[in-house]
Amino acid sequence: MDKQPRSMYLHELTWPEVKELLPQIRLAIIPVGSTEQHGPHGCFDYDAAGSREFSKRLAQRLYPHVLVAPGIQIGVSGHHIHFPGSITLRPSTLIDVIMDVAWSLHQHGIRKFFIANGHGGNTPSIGVAANRIKQEYGDEVAWATVPYDAVRDVSAKHAKTEVNGHSCEIETSCMLYMWPQSVRQDRLTKGEVRPEVIEASKRGPALAQEARYFDEVTINGALGDATLATAEIGRDMVETALDRYAEYLKDFMNR
Ligand SMILES: [Zn+2]
Repeated sequence: MDKQPRSMYLHELTWPEVKELLPQIRLAIIPVGSTEQHGPHGCFDYDAAGSREFSKRLAQRLYPHVLVAPGIQIGVSGHHIHFPGSITLRPSTLIDVIMDVAWSLHQHGIRKFFIANGHGGNTPSIGVAANRIKQEYGDEVAWATVPYDAVRDVSAKHAKTEVNGHSCEIETSCMLYMWPQSVRQDRLTKGEVRPEVIEASKRGPALAQEARYFDEVTINGALGDATLATAEIGRDMVETALDRYAEYLKDFMNR
């Protein structure tokens, strides 16, 4: 009978267990989240819990070859700072934290990393850290915003609003499936996206990016319409992305 794979999340292991597992480990996942408002219905841990829970499921599929590092709970969220409670790192701090986590795991013999990002605002720092890890430590690094980068086709099928991507019907569905305790299901609220933002989105891709605070985009901190979120949509997003990333990482680990 198949034994249920045990956890590969570092915080749930002892050092003798890690020592025994290390010869089989070919890759470490570093989940990177945020501590950022997610509208009237989403707890501050949406991105941290989402990236961590996705990573744990992904590691189970690749058992016992993938170790999951502790999730980094705070990301780059300066644009959310007008909402009470939001906490941010400076982009340079996040680069340093990711590099220090990778340096530590490198000391234990790990040479390949997948940075599982939970929050778009972290992407520039993760790109810098990934390239520096490769150039300074000689390790191989892949990164993506999970589950979203792998399932744009699936999310296009389920999205019902023009401007989504934060605490919307898609992200809230993923949380209902992976970590429902972060969702205030009796408070699901449509995003109060500012009309000029919706108008601009209808004109197609912008010619330039503008630095903005998030309250310049949405009054209540949410995009899209979380009242349309379901755990079923979340299952479609998450399980499809797990299939695709498991295949991708099998190839990446064995290269
Ligand atoms: Zn989020």
